[in-house]
Amino acid sequence: MPVGRPLVFHEGGFMPLAEAKIGIMTHALHYGTSIFEGIRGNWNPDDGKLYIFRPADHYRRLLEGCHMLMIKLPYTADDLVRITIELVERNGFQEDIYIRPIAFKGAQKVANLKLHELEDSFALLAIPFGAYIDTQGAIRCCTSPWRRIEDTMIPPRFKIGGLYVNSILAKTDAVLAGFDEAILLTQDGHVSEGSGENLFLVKGGKLITPPVSDNILGGITRDSVVQLARNELGVETVERSIDRSEMYVAEEMFLTGTAAHLTPVGQVDHRLIGDGQVGTITKALSDLYFGVIKGRNAKYKHWCAGVTVPKLIRV
Ligand code: PMP
Repeated sequence: MPVGRPLVFHEGGFMPLAEAKIGIMTHALHYGTSIFEGIRGNWNPDDGKLYIFRPADHYRRLLEGCHMLMIKLPYTADDLVRITIELVERNGFQEDIYIRPIAFKGAQKVANLKLHELEDSFALLAIPFGAYIDTQGAIRCCTSPWRRIEDTMIPPRFKIGGLYVNSILAKTDAVLAGFDEAILLTQDGHVSEGSGENLFLVKGGKLITPPVSDNILGGITRDSVVQLARNELGVETVERSIDRSEMYVAEEMFLTGTAAHLTPVGQVDHRLIGDGQVGTITKALSDLYFGVIKGRNAKYKHWCAGVTVPKLIRV
C-alpha cells in the first residue's frame, strides 16, 4: 500500500484514515443506528486486477436498509460503486480486501429516539483481509443458546449495526466454547443462519436453505451459490424451514458469506455431518465460487468490478 494510506471516504471526500473522526455524541455509537455492508475485493495476480464482488447488489441492500432506518444518502448505488472503485485505486491495494461502507445517524444527539430528527453520515473504508474463519477443511459449529432476532424486533433482512449484538453474543460464546461458528435458531426453533453467514444443507442431491422469513439476511453469496449450483451443477435449491435435528443427518453442510466465503461444516453439536470432511457438492461449488470471485470465470465476470490498480501509485 502506498505511503500515507489508507485513505478513506468520509463526509463526501477522501482523506487519511487518521483524519476521519466522529464525535462521542454520535447517535449511532450509542444506539446502533447504522446500516453497513461487507464487500470483498479479491486480488487476481494473474491479470493484476482486484475484483470487487457484486458491489451494486451490496449497495442496493445498503440503500434498502437506509430506507428502513430513515437515513438519506446523497448517492445512488451506482455512485457508491464508483466511489468504491476510486477508493481501491487511490489505495493501490494488491491483495484481498474487505470493504466496509457505513451509513449512520451521525447526529450529535444522545437523548433522542426519533429517526426523522437525526442527521445522517456516511463513511467508506477498506482493509487488507484474508481468511475470516481461520480453519483448514470443515469447521465445527454449535447451535447457539441465543435465538435469532425476529423481524418484529429489529428486522434482520437489513445490516443494522445494533442488530449485530445478537451475532456477536452467539459467536463469542461459540468460540469460547471451542467451536468455530454458532448456528442461531429462530424463536420457534428452526435453523436460521450462522452469526455472519447463511446456511445450506445438502440432502438427496439438492441444496436446502432457510427462507428470508426465518430471519436470515438475504445473502449475496447465498444468491450466487444458488445460481452457480443450478446453472453449473444442475443442483436445485429448496428454500424451506429446517429443523435443528435435520442438520445432524444432512449429507453435507456449508455456510456462505462475504467474509466467510463458502465454508464447509464438518460437525454440528458434536455430530459429524456426512463423514465430517468437505463434501463432494460443497467442494464443486467452492471451486466454482472461488474462480468466479477472482474474475476467472468469463460467464460470471459481470458480477465482478475489475479494478486495475494504476501504476503511478504503486510502491
Ligand atoms: N447473515 C449475516 C447475519 C451476515 O452478517 C452475513 C454477512 N453479510 C450473511 C448472512 C451473508 O451475507 P452476504 O453473503 O451478503 O455477505
